[in-house]
Amino acid sequence: MSNVFVIDSDYKPLNPVHPARARRLLTQGKAAVYRRYPFTIVLKRVVDQPEVHPLRLKLDPGSKTTGIALVNDTNGNVVFAAELEHRGHAIKDSLDSRRGVRRRRRNRKTRYRKPRFQNRRRKKGWLPPSLESRLATILTWVARLCRSAPITALSQELVKFDMQLMENPDITGVEYQQGTLQGYEVREYLLEKWERTCAYCGKQDVPLQIEHIHPRANGGTHRISNLTLACEPCNSAKGTQDIAVFLAKKPDVLKRILAQVKKPLKDASAVNATRFALLERLKACGLPVECGSGGLTKYNRTTRGLAKTHWLDATCVGKSTPSAISHKGVVPLLITANGHGRRQMCVPDKYGFPEKHKQRRKTFLGYRTGDMVKAITPKGTFEGRIAIRHRPSFRLGKVDIHPKYMRCIHQADGYEYTQKGVRNAPPHV
Ligand SMILES: [Zn+2]
Repeated sequence: MSNVFVIDSDYKPLNPVHPARARRLLTQGKAAVYRRYPFTIVLKRVVDQPEVHPLRLKLDPGSKTTGIALVNDTNGNVVFAAELEHRGHAIKDSLDSRRGVRRRRRNRKTRYRKPRFQNRRRKKGWLPPSLESRLATILTWVARLCRSAPITALSQELVKFDMQLMENPDITGVEYQQGTLQGYEVREYLLEKWERTCAYCGKQDVPLQIEHIHPRANGGTHRISNLTLACEPCNSAKGTQDIAVFLAKKPDVLKRILAQVKKPLKDASAVNATRFALLERLKACGLPVECGSGGLTKYNRTTRGLAKTHWLDATCVGKSTPSAISHKGVVPLLITANGHGRRQMCVPDKYGFPEKHKQRRKTFLGYRTGDMVKAITPKGTFEGRIAIRHRPSFRLGKVDIHPKYMRCIHQADGYEYTQKGVRNAPPHV
């Protein structure tokens, strides 16, 4: 288990403690459980001028999952880790279905109206709702963690590769394959530019090598515009031939490669609007924000011998990453964003025919859908999220349980939590 967050009775965040220490504080009655997820205890006294060790909150934002890690920069300990599963896709799906329903209804019911065209304006900095939700969930968690741990700095992965580092000819000229930081940036850039395929045969999911279009032996340079990716057989087949000779029988491939080579650097680096918007909002939190590139993250992760998971990626974001990372015993908290339910009052069947009508009330007998409960019943003990029914038994997983057996352990907050052993980590990359 990861460390336990501690706050004092003035809600001041203190140093996170080992679970054993927390258990002792709880059994001695010096503290009480404040929050279940992430596990936080509250001391029953005020600590004047506590001696806290500052922590750094590191984020690796992704489209589906965001890695979160709390790292102590001075000793390299990972204090807490989480993986936040976004619901951007769910939002997109429900907006699409709403659009479909509306379209059908308006076609059915309304007189002809002239199409309204380009008569709406969006605010500056507007993002589609699916992306907005990703930002909002990340910011929610930044704020939550700042309330329960002494966080003094933030780190965020901003771009996939560092353009400046690559365009500097001093750096691109040397050791591009020797595992230096520049090598990683170049590699990430080429993978993105050549879409992770062999330029010559188009194979995917094979180990790719960096390949000189104009061969080194004939005076080709290490410049990024002379590099591409090729699988091992293609690379050795080409050898020191000129590309025009090697691809003499495949003129269309030759044409495509030469066209792709000329594409300027800027086009290839898809600027991710969400990440920049996130940076702006993180800066507004008032803490210093450090930015890192994906190439740097990969370099840090590989040199520190860590596996590829979202939370370990987050641990390795940025230049501030300590030279040795210790994450013994840290199990990431898996957080899934589920939203806060719907406002839909009428539930139609699959043909759109109104079937059920919901009650306006969201709570029943003091519970609401999404509450995490522990139920000790004559049939056994159950734990999980409930779905309320307007009858004296609620759904918990696949069983119906009367609320008299239930004890709420975490009130619905739009997220689902799991903390079991480490999820099957993909092999070391
Ligand atoms: Zn190939």
